[in-house]
Amino acid sequence: MSQYWSPAVRELTPYVPGEQPRERVIKLNTNENPYPPAPGVSEALRNYAVDHLRLYPDPTSLALRETLADTYGVSVAETFVGNGSDEVLAFAFQAFFCHGAPLDVPSITYSFYPVYANLYGVELRKHPLNNQWEVDLDALANDSERSGVIFANPNAPTGHAHSLESIEALLKRVADRVVLIDEAYVDFGAESTVALVERYPNLLVTGTFSKSRSLAGLRLGYAIGSPELIEGLQRVKDSFNSYPVDSLASVVGIEALKDTQHFNACRDNVITTRERTRQRLEGLGFEVLPSKANFLLAQHPDFAGAQLFAGLRERGILVRHFNTNLLNNFLRISIGTDDEMDSFIEALESLSG
Ligand code: PMP
Repeated sequence: MSQYWSPAVRELTPYVPGEQPRERVIKLNTNENPYPPAPGVSEALRNYAVDHLRLYPDPTSLALRETLADTYGVSVAETFVGNGSDEVLAFAFQAFFCHGAPLDVPSITYSFYPVYANLYGVELRKHPLNNQWEVDLDALANDSERSGVIFANPNAPTGHAHSLESIEALLKRVADRVVLIDEAYVDFGAESTVALVERYPNLLVTGTFSKSRSLAGLRLGYAIGSPELIEGLQRVKDSFNSYPVDSLASVVGIEALKDTQHFNACRDNVITTRERTRQRLEGLGFEVLPSKANFLLAQHPDFAGAQLFAGLRERGILVRHFNTNLLNNFLRISIGTDDEMDSFIEALESLSG
């Protein structure tokens, strides 16, 4: 605590990311992709003319946004890019949610939202998940005075995803404020709401290159929404730094977007391994929530989450354990390669046997 900090920073409970260890471990704790980025990424890095780094990047990130627009079937004016979707989310909080009214959010969702809410003085109105561990869209849309609605679809860390129809019903009910749908994990089997952007000017979809495009180290995220929402984000961003993402990230991001074949192959592998892992966990007596993401949330009736977490850690396997009442017994397990998941299951067998 420092006398120099502003009250908001004094009150802030910062987000604590999963650890990034130095020693070799099996890392199933931060939902990274176990497969390398598209081959074109290495080639682009090898061929990059280093002299470009002398110059500032294009302030509009046009080339990257054009490729993003092509990939998602939208216009460039409907795209925005930033340093990871976390940064895009921060801009969105500042641009759309500081109205003085509460922001509607599920009680269990991405834990960065409360951090931004704290920082930017936004009150959260938390709605419990339903008894299937699903985001309760009806409850989210029920109140009237609000600054907006935010949730992740698939939700994190539960993995459940709602259909386009259910989300469209919510959008119809919340027409006066921004509905932000965080699609960080959408590529692992859920439907993207980008298809609804044309019809709902209040819909902002955020996405990331960190998961399905294997580029978490690059820090590249995006938003897709109506030109008026994109302009709102742009206004906030320009007030911080008129250069959105660095030149290298643009070049690499474009290559990652262009390689559909690599993208599909990695996604299919992750989905197959996820379902295989689910079966094996269920075989060990775990309750595993249905997941459309690159992770599973699972708990065992006889073993505490904290105990399993510690036992796995001792065996060089990192998973995520949340120290919250609501999720205390659960482990969130990112999907790695088949070999990694075999080692994970073997370690669990030795712990629970
Ligand atoms: N949204 C959700 C739901 C996430 O789990 C994450 C990753 N922790 C992010 C956004 C942020 O991803 P990034 O900043 O790497 O794009």
